[in-house]
Amino acid sequence: MEKLGIYVQVPFCQTKCTYCNFHTGVVSAARFAPYAEAVSREIRGHRELLKAAGVDWPGRLGRSDGVPLQKKSETPGTDLIVDTVYFGGGTPSLLDPAHLQKILDAIRGSFATELAEVTLEADPETIEAEKAAAWVCAGINRVSFGLQSFADKELVAAGRMHRRADIYRAVPILRKAGISNISFDLIAGLPHQTNESWRQSLEELQALGPEHVSIYLLEIDEGSRLGSELLRGGGRYSAGAVPSEDEMAEFYETAQRELRSAGYHHYEISNWAKPGFESKHNLKYWRREAYLGFGAGAHSFSGTERWANGHDAAAYVSAVQGGRLPVEQQEKLTAESALEEELFLGLRQLDGIDVGRIEQKYGVTLAGRFDPLATNGFVRREGSVVRLAEEKLSISNEVFVELMK
Ligand code: SF4
Repeated sequence: MEKLGIYVQVPFCQTKCTYCNFHTGVVSAARFAPYAEAVSREIRGHRELLKAAGVDWPGRLGRSDGVPLQKKSETPGTDLIVDTVYFGGGTPSLLDPAHLQKILDAIRGSFATELAEVTLEADPETIEAEKAAAWVCAGINRVSFGLQSFADKELVAAGRMHRRADIYRAVPILRKAGISNISFDLIAGLPHQTNESWRQSLEELQALGPEHVSIYLLEIDEGSRLGSELLRGGGRYSAGAVPSEDEMAEFYETAQRELRSAGYHHYEISNWAKPGFESKHNLKYWRREAYLGFGAGAHSFSGTERWANGHDAAAYVSAVQGGRLPVEQQEKLTAESALEEELFLGLRQLDGIDVGRIEQKYGVTLAGRFDPLATNGFVRREGSVVRLAEEKLSISNEVFVELMK
């Protein structure tokens, strides 16, 4: 049985955080039900909708080296088993639990499932005991919390809806409801963040004991209000109080040390887990395993082809209601782009990549790419395995630029 991940995009939020560069919108709650209905419809009709949009699924579903899977049965879905579902966004916890249940029912009715991990991204202020109990009944067993910081001054400046007290209110509710796998997100580089406040956030995080931690560096690009303000040298959105790149790298390195000594395993550049709690779903992205994305802006990967639905949620709902899937990006991977992905995504994992295996799979020689990086101390080699040097993880983007030259 080939394992398949399902991603469900919920592109709605209560407000727009200043640093956010995602395609999400603040809409009336009246739009949630039609959206959940459209997603369920897309799931139930995915074969026909994808075929009509020019995407062959699962005919072209292949292993990551592009070899098509043998169809083991003519019965749809029986050659694949869905083991992970991830509700991301946006703020999927805004949806009524009945909407989430409906979507999960559509998944269970359309695929063979053995759901080992069902994750819901949630913001702390949206957590209520009744909702949490309903999530557990629906089959959700992992909650990924967008905390970002424990310092109210940073949360206010970032335009977040929750405050530190909401975190302390929400975590016990989830534990009591039976959620035994919680992930916390922190952002290094928020306005007003200092070495002291960062350490404080890390300490409070450890005291609450989540099973998984994600730490992201603030992204500075035109896609967010804060990013574009920083790029044009303005001071709105507390842009003047954003830590320097060196400080952000230092924050990241502090987190590496602190989380290691607290027993977290650093398994991907931005991710740490207590043993056995690595995200099963997200590992599929880095390992280039197949996943299907549903909803506006959701991305999918068959092993040989990538595609995505259009971002506009209203256009998505009306297209699906009209029996059409608004596929906007579609790319059949060449051997060259598959190899680039294999290197880029593989090296994000701290276990590194087996260069010998990749050379054999793609018929290439990679020594020329890695020799200069090893000489400069960016990567370490152990036999055929190459991994990013631990002390260079905070500048991994620079390493990737060198690698792709
Ligand atoms: S809650 Fe998340 S997705 Fe929504 S605006 Fe804030 S950062 Fe963006």
